[in-house]
Amino acid sequence: MGYVDSVLEEVTAKNPSEPEFIQAVNEVLESLRPVIEANETKYKKEALLERLVNPERQIKFRVPWVDDNGQVQVNTGYRVQFNGAIGPYKGGLRFHPSVNLGIIKFLGFEQTFKNSLTGLPIGGGKGGSDFDPKGKSDREVMAFCQSFMTELCKYIGPDTDVPAGDIGVGAREIGYLFGQYKRIRSAYEGVLTGKGLSYGGSLARKEATGYGLLYLTQELLNLNGIEIEGKTAIVSGSGNVAIYAIEKACHLGVKCLTCSDSTGWIYDEEGIDIELLKEVKEVKRARLTEYAKARPSAVYHEGRGVWGIKADIALPCATQNELFIEDAKELVKNGVTVVAEGANMPTTIEATKYLMDHQVIFAPGKAANAGGVATSALEMTQNSERLSWTFEEVDQKLQTIMINITRTMDKAAKKYKHPGNYVLGANIAGFEKVADAMSFQGIV
Ligand code: NDP
Repeated sequence: MGYVDSVLEEVTAKNPSEPEFIQAVNEVLESLRPVIEANETKYKKEALLERLVNPERQIKFRVPWVDDNGQVQVNTGYRVQFNGAIGPYKGGLRFHPSVNLGIIKFLGFEQTFKNSLTGLPIGGGKGGSDFDPKGKSDREVMAFCQSFMTELCKYIGPDTDVPAGDIGVGAREIGYLFGQYKRIRSAYEGVLTGKGLSYGGSLARKEATGYGLLYLTQELLNLNGIEIEGKTAIVSGSGNVAIYAIEKACHLGVKCLTCSDSTGWIYDEEGIDIELLKEVKEVKRARLTEYAKARPSAVYHEGRGVWGIKADIALPCATQNELFIEDAKELVKNGVTVVAEGANMPTTIEATKYLMDHQVIFAPGKAANAGGVATSALEMTQNSERLSWTFEEVDQKLQTIMINITRTMDKAAKKYKHPGNYVLGANIAGFEKVADAMSFQGIV
C-alpha cells in the first residue's frame, strides 16, 4: 500500500466519529499525491503526513454560565492548535449547536493550508463551542463569553495563538471575549482579531472574507478570459461572508439573485438589496422573511433551493456540506461558469468532482475565503505597530493577496500537470511551505 493510502486508512480507523475531519483529510491528501509520491522516501521517514494530520494540541473545557432565569447552563469549549510550523496558530471561533471536536479538527486542518497560501506567517488553529447565541440576550452572550475566555486565556496570546470570529462569533462576541482576556491577563494586546475599530480592530476586516472571495473570483475569470461585469450570481447564507460577498459583487457589476439562512431562502429577481439585507441581518438580527416583507421583487421560500436558480456564478457562503451532487448537476444543467467557496468545505467531495469533470471553474474555500484570515494577519501587524491603516490601504493589500493566491494555485496546478485543477493547486501550494518548515524544524 502507498504512503498516502496507509495514512488515509489510519486516519479513518482512528477517528470513526469525525466524518467531517476524515472528509477534509481525504480531500487534501488525495490531491497531494503527485507531490507526496515525488518525495515519498523522505516524507515517510520523517512521518510527515502522520504529523500533519495529528493536531499539535487539543484543548477541551467546561463552560458553565448562568441564564436569565438564574439557571446554570453548561457548554463545551474547544481550541485545536493544529499546526504551528509557519507562525502562531490562527483561526476562528465557532459558536453553533453542531460544534464538536471533529468539526473543529476539520476546520483547523483546512486552516493550516489556507494560512500558508496567504503567504503570511500564520499557523493553523480553530476553536469554538456548542453554545447557540441565537435567541440569547446580550447579558447571556456576555456571561457565556466571559466563562469561555476565563479558561481559553490560559492557552492563547499574541505570539502563540490568536483566535478570530466564525459562525456565531461576530463583533459582539469578540468584544466580550477581548474584555475578559484583558481583565484576567492585565494585558492590552492583539490576542484576538475581528475587534471593534475603537479598540484595535482593522478597517476592512469585517468586509474581508466576502470582498476577498469576489477579488479571487474576478481574477480566476480573468485568467480564463472572462469579464465579471454583467454576470449573475447565486449566493447561500446571509451572515458575514455572504453579506460582503454580495456587496462587492454589486460593486463589480454582478447581480446577486439569492441569499439564504438555516430556515429558508430569498429569490430577488431585481438583485439583492444589500442595504436592506444588512438592516435585517446585522441591525435587527431578524429572519429573511423580514427582507421579503420589505421588498416587492423578492420571494421567500422555506427550506433549501438556491442552487436551482440559473446564474453564471455560484457562491456557497453558509456552512460545510451545503452543496450536494444533485445541486452540482442542477448547476451544470443551468450552465454555471464558476463555483467559488465562501464557506469552509460547503461542497461535498462528490459534488466537487462532478463540477470539475464538467469544466466548471471551481475555487476551493481554503483559497477563496482566505481574505478573512489574511486581513486578520494585517490586523495583527497593525496591533504590533500600534498603528491603524486606512480602509483603502487594507483593501489594496487584500486585493494583492487574493490575486497572488489565485496565481499561486494556478501555477502549482500547471506545475503538477493538472492545469485548471485549483483544488490540487491550492492544496499543493499550501502544503509545500508547511512541509518545508516542518522538515527544517526537526521532529517536533
Ligand atoms: P455567520 O454566522 O455570520 O453566518 C452564517 C450563515 O450561514 C447564516 O446565514 C446562517 O443562517 C447560515 N448557516 C449556518 N449554519 C447553517 C446550516 N447548518 N444550514 C444552513 N444555513 C446555515 O458566519 P460567517 O458568515 O462568518 O461564516 C460562514 C462560513 O464562512 C463558515 O463556513 C465559516 O467557517 C466560513 N468562513 C468565515 C470567515 C469569516 O471571516 N467570517 C472566514 C473564512 C471562512 P442562520 O442565521 O439561520 O444560522
